[in-house]
Amino acid sequence: MTNNTADAIVIGAGLAGLTAAAELGDRGKRVIVLDQEPEHFLGGQAFWSLGGLFMVDTPEQRRMGIRDSHELALRDWMGSAQFDRDEDNWPRKWADAYVEFAAGEMRPWLHEMGLRWFPVVGWAERGGSYADGHGNSVPRFHITWGTGPGVLEHFVRRIRAHVDAGLIQLKFRHQVSHIIMQNGTAKGVSGEVLADDSIQRGGKTNRDEVGEFEVYAPSVIVTSGGIGGNFEMVRKNWPHDRLGEPPKDMVAGVPFHVDGRMIPISEKAGGHVINGDRMWHYTEGVRNWDPIWPAHGIRILPGPSSMWFDARGNRLQPPCLPGFDTLGTLREILKTGYEYSWFVLTQKVIKKEFALSGSEQNPDFTSGSWKEVIRQRILSGSKATAPVEAFKEKGEDFVVANTLTELVSGMNQLGGGLIDEAHLRAQIEARDSQIDNPFSKDAQMMAILAARNYRGDRLIRTAKPHKFLDPSNGPLIAVKLHVLTRKSLGGLQTNLDGQMVGADGQVVPGLFAAGEVAGFGGGGYHGYNALEGTFLGGCIFSGRIAGRSRAVA
Ligand SMILES: Cc1cc2nc3c(=O)[nH]c(=O)nc-3n(C[C@H](O)[C@H](O)[C@H](O)COP(=O)(O)OP(=O)(O)OC[C@H]3O[C@@H](n4cnc5c(N)ncnc54)[C@H](O)[C@@H]3O)c2cc1C
Repeated sequence: MTNNTADAIVIGAGLAGLTAAAELGDRGKRVIVLDQEPEHFLGGQAFWSLGGLFMVDTPEQRRMGIRDSHELALRDWMGSAQFDRDEDNWPRKWADAYVEFAAGEMRPWLHEMGLRWFPVVGWAERGGSYADGHGNSVPRFHITWGTGPGVLEHFVRRIRAHVDAGLIQLKFRHQVSHIIMQNGTAKGVSGEVLADDSIQRGGKTNRDEVGEFEVYAPSVIVTSGGIGGNFEMVRKNWPHDRLGEPPKDMVAGVPFHVDGRMIPISEKAGGHVINGDRMWHYTEGVRNWDPIWPAHGIRILPGPSSMWFDARGNRLQPPCLPGFDTLGTLREILKTGYEYSWFVLTQKVIKKEFALSGSEQNPDFTSGSWKEVIRQRILSGSKATAPVEAFKEKGEDFVVANTLTELVSGMNQLGGGLIDEAHLRAQIEARDSQIDNPFSKDAQMMAILAARNYRGDRLIRTAKPHKFLDPSNGPLIAVKLHVLTRKSLGGLQTNLDGQMVGADGQVVPGLFAAGEVAGFGGGGYHGYNALEGTFLGGCIFSGRIAGRSRAVA
């Protein structure tokens, strides 16, 4: 291969791009992988991820006593996606195909590649309304040993072998700004070479141009990620009709490079974005006390026990319960006219139920060592994991107090004096009155009791019900929660071969898309709601399809 020609060009060395390139390399194709970031950012967002994968009817589920099936998963997916647009044609087909993959070939294929999973399967996004509506009926969130880096390492290993064999070239600090088209067919890409940058992985790198480049191939695969790091783009695409006004103040759950810049560039070449107004942002963001990227926020992955209040201290209505309905809760919070909300909990709850999303926030899982998991999560006495305790101590959104009076005073200092102590106390006392029986009329208490029927939740995710106002369960903790941007659910429309499909419904010859920029497949295979673990899963699935596509030269 000459330096600037190949069989295929991959734009973006995140999980989707690496998967596509590895598959192409396996088939003897010559590939140029371009990324605007430096080499030590290899892997994109997946490096930061918790490595949770949505899989169905796995040995891990069966060992935890979970009965799952393709049929149940598909019903959950379609109940969550709620596809209702003409443009959902390809996304719907992708959803079908992914659920089949997740219930079939996915785990054995990844297992053979070397991936392994923590034995307790997580129960994310429970929905909380009807059985045919949104949510996971059963736990399906498989945390990979080694978290995000543990997912990536196997794809990186495959890529490095192809680099050694001369099939793959990796070109970092190459920012693509243009797709070269000839008679409607992709021929290559051009852009700028950016100056070196040694900032730590995930930081905001410079955009200083030190040169230009052009590379040529008959197939161009766009795997450039979503828009979550670009607040302007998030606000522009915000679904006002469904969620109201976008927050003025948000935290970023993704690095700066998740900038959406390739989207208009792909559209100019003939690609077509659909479902751009569908996105997946979290309501449980806290400002990182030790930020890596601009406005860096961390998502709390909550167990079911924290009480959730709006900015004025009114308890949120079910199904706005921790871990149940991400976008439903976002809508309800924004309806209050305030952009933030509060968790109120106890030390016993934080110890068992607070997980922070991100590889660096879970050093025990990321190390892949049982010894570390046991030390951090079981032998830590009344304390939560070290990263959670660090947030409790240093995070600007945390208030810790021995009495409710002190807690409310701290909340009012952070939140502008909107909380009335008597009102908050009455609601917590009422909730505490439901503890004395193993049944309850309170919807959240019912959810807690139901969660504890699942062995995994009882073991490590759901605190034994206790009275919040009993000082022996304290101290009390309040956490101010911000809206945290994360994922784009819509994206570039693709067919089941990963080929871009233009606004006229025709394939754009030579152009492909995979991963988040393609809405994880088809231009939005989640529809309106995600079931979690489906982002990494979708990158692997759509990257694999693009890399195996019979249409790639
Ligand atoms: C903290 C965190 C936790 C997460 N946890 C999970 C989880 O547990 N489970 C799950 O399913 N998902 C999770 N996710 C989501 C998941 O990691 C991402 O959706 C997924 O990794 C996106 O991969 P991608 O390859 O599509 O894009 P990216 O990882 O964003 O990679 C795109 C690459 O393209 C490059 N690029 C962009 N534009 C250009 C250009 N013009 N020229 C050259 N290069 C360009 C970027 O620099 C980047 O390297 C998490 C994400 C984060 C941030």
